Amino acid sequence: MFDRVMGGLVGFAIGDAMGVTTEFMSPEEIKERFGEVREILGGGVFGFDCGETSDDTAMTIAVAKGIIANSENPIEEMGKQFMKWRNTRPKDIGITIAATFRNYQGDWFQAAEATDRDLGMSGGNGTLMRCLPIALAYSNTEKIDKISTLQSKMTHQEDAASEACVLYNRIAKRLLQGEELKGAIAAEIKNTEYDLDYRKKPDCPPSGYVVHSLKWVFYWLLNKNSFQDVIIGAVNMGNDSDTIAAIAGGLKGLEVGYSKLPAKHVNKLQDLNILEELAEVICVIRDKDTSIIQENQAEYLQELSALTIQSYELAEQGDPSLAMMKPLKEKMFLYRAALREDENDFIQKYEKWRKVQNRLKRSQRLLDLGAPAIIIQHELDWLRLEAEHLKQIHSGIEPQYTNEELDELESLRQLELDMDKDMKDQGFIE
Ligand SMILES: [Mg+2]
Repeated sequence: MFDRVMGGLVGFAIGDAMGVTTEFMSPEEIKERFGEVREILGGGVFGFDCGETSDDTAMTIAVAKGIIANSENPIEEMGKQFMKWRNTRPKDIGITIAATFRNYQGDWFQAAEATDRDLGMSGGNGTLMRCLPIALAYSNTEKIDKISTLQSKMTHQEDAASEACVLYNRIAKRLLQGEELKGAIAAEIKNTEYDLDYRKKPDCPPSGYVVHSLKWVFYWLLNKNSFQDVIIGAVNMGNDSDTIAAIAGGLKGLEVGYSKLPAKHVNKLQDLNILEELAEVICVIRDKDTSIIQENQAEYLQELSALTIQSYELAEQGDPSLAMMKPLKEKMFLYRAALREDENDFIQKYEKWRKVQNRLKRSQRLLDLGAPAIIIQHELDWLRLEAEHLKQIHSGIEPQYTNEELDELESLRQLELDMDKDMKDQGFIE
């Protein structure tokens, strides 16, 4: 499950990161300037860094966080996340979404109505580009349909936009069940306006109008076989290339899985840690009511701490094993899902949680590599310590490192710097 969920999110982000270079260009201009874009290069009209993603990935992350915050009724939480993103002053906000932000006075649906009146239309692809996490977090078709529709109507009133989200997420659901992509598309587009002969190019531009965008997404997915070729096809058509490549990349990534995505692209992504965190959380909360998860925060923490002690003791006896990592990881991500961004000391708790996560990742890697027991033991001791600190923070105690521990942390300063960067990217610190 994790491989597919992560494949969907990362496939999406790769399409976005590669597509920003050619956004709003014509195929002729792209050819003249680049020959063919085959790598993540950055640049484009908004001057992105190499590996940086745009509004498409930012809003997808916002939708995922909204679901995690309240999976039974995620709309208000998604709205809070949209506003939080807007307050980071992003380089590119779509026309319809920018208008809805301006019209918002406490009711998203009214704001979207006003936007439709102001602009005379609201069928942009801005809701299709962010809806994938819904299919990842829920398995019930009715629920997927309902939440996909509501999240679309929050900013875009037109039915074309919400219908595209429903169609897209129904295909995503089939892929998560193990169906192959071309068959899943064929089954869902039957008797809809997307039911075309895709051996020919769609007779519309690859524009930001949702129907045009989605027709081109299907064209690339049905005519290319590898993830790389799907993305390259969409990117080199220009126009709304980042969004079209991202939407296509999400489905193709879901089909092939994270482990099969081209490493050269994956490693360039600035959002990789955040996407991994969200994919892990989505896998543990899938189909669960997160308000119940939130009630059990202290319990997960207690179990997490007990499991780290157990794993350390096993390592001390010379018997560390990968099997003990799975329950540990599950508790860790349940605790993450239970953490609310508006609770007391959130940043301190989250920061410490990231330290636990980093240590867990390192321990797992050492185990994977078959490192000597003494090294694994040392790493697990750190994991135990950080989990203990997290428990202390939760009880209102300020945790303390010993001088020796501080010395070692200093020599691992890069780990801390990476974490600071993640905190900034997530918008938790300035
Ligand atoms: Mg974009």
